[in-house]
Amino acid sequence: MDFQFSPAEEQFRADLRAFLARHLPADWSDRSFIEAADSEDRKALAQEMTRLLAQKEWLALAWPKQYGGLDAGHLMQLIFNEETAYRAMPGGGGAGVTSVGPALMLFGNQEQKDTYLPRIAGGEDTWSLLYTEPGSGSDLASIQTRAVRDGDEYVINGQKIWIAGAQDANLGWVAARTDPTGPKHKGLSTIIVPMDSAGVTVKPVTTMAGERTLSEVYLDNVRVPAENLVGQENRGWYQVAASLDFERSGVGAYANGRRNVEKLIDIAKEERESIGRNPRVRYELADRWLELDVGFNIAYRIPWLQSQGMAPNHEASVSKLYGSELSQRIANTGIELLGLTGQLAPGSPGAPLRGALVRAYLNAVSSTIASGTSEIQRNVIAQRGLGMPRG
Ligand SMILES: Cc1cc2nc3c(=O)[nH]c(=O)nc-3n(C[C@H](O)[C@H](O)[C@H](O)COP(=O)(O)OP(=O)(O)OC[C@H]3O[C@@H](n4cnc5c(N)ncnc54)[C@H](O)[C@@H]3O)c2cc1C
Repeated sequence: MDFQFSPAEEQFRADLRAFLARHLPADWSDRSFIEAADSEDRKALAQEMTRLLAQKEWLALAWPKQYGGLDAGHLMQLIFNEETAYRAMPGGGGAGVTSVGPALMLFGNQEQKDTYLPRIAGGEDTWSLLYTEPGSGSDLASIQTRAVRDGDEYVINGQKIWIAGAQDANLGWVAARTDPTGPKHKGLSTIIVPMDSAGVTVKPVTTMAGERTLSEVYLDNVRVPAENLVGQENRGWYQVAASLDFERSGVGAYANGRRNVEKLIDIAKEERESIGRNPRVRYELADRWLELDVGFNIAYRIPWLQSQGMAPNHEASVSKLYGSELSQRIANTGIELLGLTGQLAPGSPGAPLRGALVRAYLNAVSSTIASGTSEIQRNVIAQRGLGMPRG
């Protein structure tokens, strides 16, 4: 890999940093550690940042101009993802930009593209991906939610779980079974479901960090127009696989990690005697710093491959696996560094840093499950990267 950012890319990074410095609250770098993911303040800030980014046409900057992007390319998108994650910016394009839009560009008809893409790039719609079910996570092809054609409509019944952002989304990208007779990969379809449709019930789930960011979604005789089918009926599996493929570099995990490690280094410097001179802490922090450098190189390689016209495959699994496991090691280092009081929850009297690190620690747990578990990533790397047979 012969990698360096072009002057135009460096300029974009500088412009974006200035934009974030101007629009994020001055105390955000500290507050972002303790503000719960589902707090009203964070949601309001997310809405405002999304609006401002859409105004600058940065929300979907890698998309073609005709759909509201800037044709900016994969490396600009990487810079955007890195800088916004480093500053813990709430808001942005979410699943609409990363998954739904690119899938619509590939599989949607012209009317769907004209209807939905400008609204995503303009920050007007918020999408949720409704794939996982109580019995179908890693084995996504086994989805049981049914969509039955009834005249000009589909009638959808089923249950989804662990759906990120469902409580705030106005549109759902639902994977459902349209043909229960054939092989399980061949009977799925993807259908657009307005979340305010009659029969959609969203029940937020409280995570171990005490946040209501994920939901169960019940679909009970939900009727949507047949034209909400995206692409061909029963080809949904391939479309879901392609839309999952758009979440690529994973640079956000490393940018987040760098922010967290920098915070730990500041603490170690402030508490020189009790923490900073402790050899174990020093070695742990040095290791995490080094691992972050490795991680950034792994992440940068992915858009670089794309910029050379190559399609990354197992490389994205390498980045997801390493980044999510590293985020847990960083969180563990933080908790160890603060000692027993580091485990006190935000708001507890005596919680160091107002419980900031415990929130990062609890949230890191699910990172090795979301978007495909570590075992699944290792299987992909073994099969597609190392050429090993199926396990
Ligand atoms: C924070 C978070 C956000 C999420 N957001 C969404 C979302 O927005 N939309 C959505 O649809 N879903 C979402 N999910 C669900 C997520 O995609 C699934 O949880 C994940 O794919 C794992 O599926 P599962 O929970 O059913 O676990 P299972 O698939 O039941 O896995 C259980 C265990 O078995 C292991 N395992 C399973 N199969 C294999 C295998 N073949 N080889 C080796 N080990 C295996 C797994 O690695 C895991 O350890 C989210 C999950 C989390 C935690």
